[in-house]
Amino acid sequence: MKPARFNYHRPGNLPDALALLAEHGGAARVLAGGQSLMPLMAMRLTRPEELIDINRIDELKGITADDTAVTIGALTRYTEILRSEVIAAAVPLLAEAIRHVAHHAIRNRGTIGGSLALADPSAETPAVCLALAARVIARSAAGEREIPIDSFFHGLMATELAEDEILVGVRIPKRAASARHAFLEFARRRGDFAQAGVILAPGHTGVPENRAVVFGVGATAWRSSALEGAMGRNIADDVYAALRLEVAAAVEDETADYKARIVTTLAERAMARLA
Ligand SMILES: Cc1cc2nc3c(=O)[nH]c(=O)nc-3n(C[C@H](O)[C@H](O)[C@H](O)COP(=O)(O)OP(=O)(O)OC[C@H]3O[C@@H](n4cnc5c(N)ncnc54)[C@H](O)[C@@H]3O)c2cc1C
Repeated sequence: MKPARFNYHRPGNLPDALALLAEHGGAARVLAGGQSLMPLMAMRLTRPEELIDINRIDELKGITADDTAVTIGALTRYTEILRSEVIAAAVPLLAEAIRHVAHHAIRNRGTIGGSLALADPSAETPAVCLALAARVIARSAAGEREIPIDSFFHGLMATELAEDEILVGVRIPKRAASARHAFLEFARRRGDFAQAGVILAPGHTGVPENRAVVFGVGATAWRSSALEGAMGRNIADDVYAALRLEVAAAVEDETADYKARIVTTLAERAMARLA
């Protein structure tokens, strides 16, 4: 199938893009890497009347760091993140996870901003950002705001972003020298979306905060209280019973048992890595 008719805009700077979004509101869609939006349009699962291509906006590209955090521009491609020495040193979990995203061709075009804005529950990048307490930076013609990742995902492919906002970047705290993490996912074939995944990231910034995320299970990636409570101590069977209940609450259909078995297996292996 071909997409429905649309008007194409290619602004050269952010103010022009924001003005277009303010003008067209819900009738418009931002086009970043196009790796998800173009197939959705071709299948007519979405029919934007106005397409705002942000690929020429240089201020949305690149990776910078200060003393405490790394800021990644929304239009930064997966491949650039994989090649970045800053990311390798300060946020190695992100690079490890992105190696599981699709294939070279998709990683060459797909962007971190597109992945966060799409909010696919099986996607690796949103789950990593949740595990590392990232902050999403959004801008509209009215100004800029930072959104803590814990309140960014609202439901299946739904986020806190307003219709007139562009996601301009994401700020991820740098790891402490002592920080460790475990990332495990199960996919049918390498490069497929994960059936389920588990991330453990205790003490990422050096403060004793345990963060554990489950993804590919339910409408959004979510933090597991069962795993966060269990990190750093001997695990009893009741942890996995509690984890199975969390999965059942997130899934609510006939795949719940299957997902629970995958998640508990991944969690056991992740815990063993950190032991
Ligand atoms: C065959 C295939 C396999 C894939 N496998 C995986 C996988 O294993 N793991 C995974 O995580 N992903 C996977 N993907 C998805 C891929 O990672 C996408 O690139 C990504 O989800 C979206 O990024 P994009 O830059 O292409 O965004 P686009 O497709 O351009 O946009 C996606 C959505 O986000 C919105 N958007 C984009 N950028 C912004 C912005 N800056 N501000 C506001 N809204 C914005 C768009 O309007 C659109 O609604 C796969 C895709 C394909 C085609």
